[in-house]
Amino acid sequence: MKYILGGGIAGQIFGYFNQEYKILDSDKSQESSRFSLGPRYIEETVDTRILLKFLEESLASREVKIGYFDKEKYVSFSSSFRERYALRSRGRKASHTSLMNSSEERMRVFELSPADLFARLKKENRRRLVKGSVTKINIKRKTISLEKETPLRFSELVSTIPLDVLFNLCRKENTSLKRGWVTFAKIRESYFDMKDFEFVYCLGKPFYRISKHKGYLVAELRGQRDQKSLHLIFGEDLLDSEQRLSQILAGRSLKSFEGISLLGRYAQWDRSVKIEDVAASSCEKYLKRID
Ligand SMILES: Cc1cc2nc3c(=O)[nH]c(=O)nc-3n(C[C@H](O)[C@H](O)[C@H](O)COP(=O)(O)OP(=O)(O)OC[C@H]3O[C@@H](n4cnc5c(N)ncnc54)[C@H](O)[C@@H]3O)c2cc1C
Repeated sequence: MKYILGGGIAGQIFGYFNQEYKILDSDKSQESSRFSLGPRYIEETVDTRILLKFLEESLASREVKIGYFDKEKYVSFSSSFRERYALRSRGRKASHTSLMNSSEERMRVFELSPADLFARLKKENRRRLVKGSVTKINIKRKTISLEKETPLRFSELVSTIPLDVLFNLCRKENTSLKRGWVTFAKIRESYFDMKDFEFVYCLGKPFYRISKHKGYLVAELRGQRDQKSLHLIFGEDLLDSEQRLSQILAGRSLKSFEGISLLGRYAQWDRSVKIEDVAASSCEKYLKRID
């Protein structure tokens, strides 16, 4: 049997185009949060158009404006801003071009949100979903162990779960992959003047990015911040907060590991991987098959 490990957006996209696979998932995807965690868009590319066309979803798109803010005023993007932003947001020098959304000032995105796409794909793939938490993978025997169930044998495995978690499941020692905590603070719209920008990269503020959502803003801060310290920053404008281990800080990116294909930002340990790249890899296989 062929399995996809992880039913987040990456697992669902790959599963949609590769219907011979079953999807194993413990239901803790990045889309399952109390409020939107930062800016989320599906950029308009050839591959995301193919994906939405297959799903017969609307191809309506719009432009999103991205702001840069330094010392209490909006500024234009510059390479020195980028350098300082890397230190502020990651605590290290900029090492990849995808940081700050490739430094664009605007981008074209679909009206359909990643959350809507995720819900739609989950519905499409529901018959092939196996709920449960994987506790061990035996690469030699090609078996996957789930909590309280007999191990499943696999002929092919595509992993979309974070690479450090996969290493753990395969009992491989992990000394190089490091992730960092991010605190997402949901705050009142009146806290920050967003002008007509949908998200803004910030210097000189306790948060490094702020994004606009329906009826509220979300500020992203490095590290784990408790309610007391968030209150000191946002006061009565603080509405809610969540913490996630979502920053990839160190470690080499990979495309496969011991015969297991890796797909997705955290699975490949590659910060530059976005929904459009996952769609490209998944559609490519699909198109090859129907040729
Ligand atoms: C603030 C922010 C903004 C972002 N904006 C964008 C954006 O605009 N565009 C974009 O493309 N990307 C964006 N990203 C990245 C985005 O989060 C990822 O691309 C995407 O959500 C990751 O999906 P995934 O399926 O790869 O992983 P996940 O959503 O983490 O899914 C992994 C799945 O694996 C399951 N799982 C884990 N361990 C096990 C186990 N042991 N057994 C069974 N199941 C398991 C989990 O339950 C989960 O459902 C953003 C990220 C952040 C933090």
